[in-house]
Amino acid sequence: MRTLEEAALEASTCPRCRLAQGRTQVVYGTGSPDADLMFIGEGPGYYEDKQGEPFVGAAGQLLNRMLEEVGIRREGVYICNVIKCRPPGNRDPFPDEVEACAPWLREQIALIDPRVIVTLGNFATRFILDKPASISRVRGQRFPIEGRTVIPTFHPAAVLHGGGEASAQMTALRADFQEIKAALAEMPQPVEEQLGLF
Ligand code: URA
Repeated sequence: MRTLEEAALEASTCPRCRLAQGRTQVVYGTGSPDADLMFIGEGPGYYEDKQGEPFVGAAGQLLNRMLEEVGIRREGVYICNVIKCRPPGNRDPFPDEVEACAPWLREQIALIDPRVIVTLGNFATRFILDKPASISRVRGQRFPIEGRTVIPTFHPAAVLHGGGEASAQMTALRADFQEIKAALAEMPQPVEEQLGLF
């Protein structure tokens, strides 16, 4: 297998779908290549397209705050999206665009090999669970998939648009981050770490 860096370099010139024409740059992903925890959103928005990093706009600020609240460092996790290029006007990605982009995400998951994957919102959740789940029904639950634990939660942008601070969605988002923390804490440690070799 190649490295994440090598994959990102190839992705940076990806010509596989029409979104290549309108993007400022490919937003491949950011964070630790050895992360135990991976967040997957939908696709880059305006600021992400400009800066080349996922979740740097308002939704990203809320994601950062949730991470801080449960004591998880953003640098220690990996953050990416299903779609690596910004759709014009932030429209929903078309099925052929999702299909063209999917190998990048599949490879990212294989290379990073996270123990826990958090899907943010309906779009990423349906992609990873591979079924038409509704986020309000499945959020906060743990789904065992290919040896990993998948925990869907609301997309932070949906929480911001759907009531903000005092909303039931925000309360649910907070509870889901506690669940994420608990799932990570319950993961069995690799033998080397148990023996204190690293
Ligand atoms: N929304 C997403 O789904 N991804 C981002 O990177 C930013 C906003």
